[in-house]
Amino acid sequence: MHEIEQTQRVTVVGAGLVGSLLSMYLARRGFQVDVLEWRPDMRREEIGAGRSINLAISARGLYALRQVGLEEEALRHAIPMRGRMIHSVSGALAYQAYGKDESQHINSISRAWLNKFLMTHAEATGRVRIQFEQRVQHVDFQKGVLDIVDRAGGASREVHTPVVLGTDGSGSAVRREMALAPEYRAAQEQLSHGYKELTIPPGPGGAFQMEKHALHIWPRGSYMLIALPNLDGSFTCTLFLPFEGPVSFESLGTPAQLVAFFEEQFPDALALMPGLTHDFFHNPTGTMVTVKSEPWHVGGKALLLGDAAHAIVPFFGQGMNCGFEDCVALDACLGRHTRWEDAFVEFFRLRKPNADAIADMAVENFVEMRDKTADPRFLLEKAVEKE
Ligand code: FAD
Repeated sequence: MHEIEQTQRVTVVGAGLVGSLLSMYLARRGFQVDVLEWRPDMRREEIGAGRSINLAISARGLYALRQVGLEEEALRHAIPMRGRMIHSVSGALAYQAYGKDESQHINSISRAWLNKFLMTHAEATGRVRIQFEQRVQHVDFQKGVLDIVDRAGGASREVHTPVVLGTDGSGSAVRREMALAPEYRAAQEQLSHGYKELTIPPGPGGAFQMEKHALHIWPRGSYMLIALPNLDGSFTCTLFLPFEGPVSFESLGTPAQLVAFFEEQFPDALALMPGLTHDFFHNPTGTMVTVKSEPWHVGGKALLLGDAAHAIVPFFGQGMNCGFEDCVALDACLGRHTRWEDAFVEFFRLRKPNADAIADMAVENFVEMRDKTADPRFLLEKAVEKE
């Protein structure tokens, strides 16, 4: 049973960005893939944003899409961002290119569009069946049984499967079950900052109201605002603030306090945000967490990938990219081994050091983005680097 070649069906938990792409890789290897997803089908129902509306996809993520023939179409729906545009309090702008030439850039892409695109292409393989509104509650790894609850009726049922791939995100139920074993180690660290999504709408005729091909940053020390462009001419802004303290979500309790804060700290952004008060008081406040766990697998029965294995804070724009890289790495491991367990052991050995490194770099980059990008010495360093 634990020979890879003798396994016909596998189960993926979570049809987010990583689960959807992983299903394509598994289908390409000839497996029938059953995907269980808690949310409704976002291609049929509008689902509240909840988390970042757009994302930066970079070379690592694009490579993973290229392997399954999806890079070109994805790039047609993305906006290249060739550098950072730093906004000072006075409104002065300073541009820092990401690379020596324009080919070195990251890309802004809609999270919802990308997720739908991946699900549709996974299903088009004819080997992937996504069942929506199915929540995995418990997993018995040894028996290969998942306890599922149906969102609509609340009825629970069992699904039998030889192999479980857990791509159910940072709050992973699959990881929670793994962590019940004494030899499994899992730690979560929540940042003392949260985030709020805000919008700069398109200008007249759908025009971009700021430089289109840049990631905009308003660094302000212990907090910051960033903005990424969308295809419709709008920008999705994310305000990162401490939950508590003198300048925090706690201290901005009324529209008057919020507007006064923006007038003082982000006047140029405020001028482009007619819906600021509505967005701030209606959109949810997001939390950010780093998850470090090991060894990501239970023998050859189950494996975690993506945020379920290694959620990171978003300041390096690499969480999804790293999860996409997991798909490529697992595919290569499956090609090199005959037993699931051997493939999972190698996957963990290869990916864990990278995941830990990017997790630490993401936290460090928060300090750089909110602080050092505003430091004149840093700007000078960058200018010298460019020459
Ligand atoms: P998720 O996207 O969380 O998907 C998990 C899926 O599993 C969901 O569909 C969920 O409904 C489902 N699920 C959960 N529990 C269950 C269950 N019990 N049963 C069934 N289904 C379940 N990354 C980048 O690369 N670039 C960026 O620019 C970037 N920006 C970000 C900005 C913000 C503000 C945040 C918060 C994150 C950002 N990230 C970015 C990180 C990126 O969002 C994640 O790394 C990525 O979404 C991980 O994908 P995933 O499929 O592993 O998990």
